[in-house]
Amino acid sequence: MANVTLHDMHFEPYLGEAEVAHAIDALAANVAKDYANKTPLFVGVLNGSYFFASELLKRLDIPCEITFVKVASYHGTVSSGTVSQLIGLNERIAGRHVVVLEDIVDTGNTIVHIMEALREQQPATVAIASLLLKPEAYKKDIPIDYVALEIPNVFVVGSGLDHDGLGRNLPGIYRLATA
Ligand code: 5GP
Ligand code: MG
Repeated sequence: MANVTLHDMHFEPYLGEAEVAHAIDALAANVAKDYANKTPLFVGVLNGSYFFASELLKRLDIPCEITFVKVASYHGTVSSGTVSQLIGLNERIAGRHVVVLEDIVDTGNTIVHIMEALREQQPATVAIASLLLKPEAYKKDIPIDYVALEIPNVFVVGSGLDHDGLGRNLPGIYRLATA
């Protein structure tokens, strides 16, 4: 893996494709065990989760469904602060076992909004699976049930994650170069 430049920023190799694949293997085994008889509905959060969603689902040999949503944030009234809306959730999720698929959980602000929006529709259960988690940055109470890889508080790209649109297609994970 060589260094890459995306727009004006330089990135260096951090985790190889095989290491990422190995971490998803382990996560998938846990999900398959926990959801064997539940026909879960996976809800991938676009755009970044497309890679993780695909890699996870091809490893699952249990009955399951997948759909994708986008999160649109806008500023509401002063008292409500930033409001987030889930776009594209057409499935009925009441009574379903839902597993949210994220590319990365950083501060957790996004996942908090997603969980609020999903719980309004009364699924039987909602869990979260994320390809990456930054434990030093995550300050919320909601458990991130399945994490493939924990990383330090650095900006990364690759495996679905972008810098201003570029880098999602890079195999493996790259981090902002120090020099
Ligand atoms: P949150 O802080 O709400 O948990 O994360 C919000 C979003 O910030 C993530 O879904 C992702 O789009 C973006 N993000 C956070 N950390 C990184 C990172 O290291 N690299 C990239 N490419 N995006 C990130
Ligand atoms: Mg995201």
